Amino acid sequence: RIAYVNGRYLPQRDAAVNIEDRGYQFGDGIYEVVHVQDGRFIDEDAHLSRMERSLGEIRLAQPMGRRALRQVLREVVRRNRITDGLVYMQITRGVARRDHGFPAAAVPPAFVVTARRIPGFPASLEGWNLRAITHPDLRWARRDIKSVNLLPNVLAKQAAREQGAGEAILYEEGTGQVTEGSSTTVWIVDEEGVLRTRHLDHAVLPGCTRGALMELLTGSGIDFEERGFTVEEARRAREAFLTSATSFVKPILAIDGESVGDGRPGPVTRRLFEIFARHVKGLPSN
Ligand code: PLP
Repeated sequence: RIAYVNGRYLPQRDAAVNIEDRGYQFGDGIYEVVHVQDGRFIDEDAHLSRMERSLGEIRLAQPMGRRALRQVLREVVRRNRITDGLVYMQITRGVARRDHGFPAAAVPPAFVVTARRIPGFPASLEGWNLRAITHPDLRWARRDIKSVNLLPNVLAKQAAREQGAGEAILYEEGTGQVTEGSSTTVWIVDEEGVLRTRHLDHAVLPGCTRGALMELLTGSGIDFEERGFTVEEARRAREAFLTSATSFVKPILAIDGESVGDGRPGPVTRRLFEIFARHVKGLPSN
């Protein structure tokens, strides 16, 4: 595998992080993941805009213009001969003697791009069904920034794995309000049949797949509200599913061991899966 590292394309095994990189020492950096399907970059502009925003929020300069960046992504994908996969970008505040405050302006950010294959968009929902657990959201107050500080997400995902589940649905302790999954956006079809996902603010990452799906909903006739829900509401929901650049649209069939609805992917989830599949394949929605 070939990685882009600060202006050079290197075999990934030869690409090493400096032990004084601030991403490594402080988690002082941000990242972005774009899904590639049949060589096309899905929702690329949304991901690049979010990356630019994340950089701005942590006061890190853009490593290069958008055109040059798009070229680097394509070159990494080409050199790894990927048609279906993921591209990972990470920018940290560079290498400097350890000190919490920002290093001198002359320290260049460290910019890395890697890519790997994943299976293409599945032909059907079967086999993509997943159980989730609930887990307290232990993260900081600026989850809208896609920072590389992922320890609470890592611990939540591991808790899910150890209970035989594929995702952890995170909730605010006290209110029981669901924020999002450890690496996904969570949606439900509530008891009234209304499709819901939480509104955006500093408490969640603005999912690019969420945004794309919301646009695709226009004209679908599906009753949708940008309104949060509690763990209890998720348990009682008719349907639940999650979205992300890597998960596409994935049904949640059980929460903490209890079936959601009848324990099978529901009609709204199936419909959205089809709608999103057309989007990923570059076909007009019908
Ligand atoms: N929420 C969190 C915490 C995430 O890490 C991710 C994706 O990595 C998402 C939501 C989904 O975002 P997207 O649809 O842009 O992949």
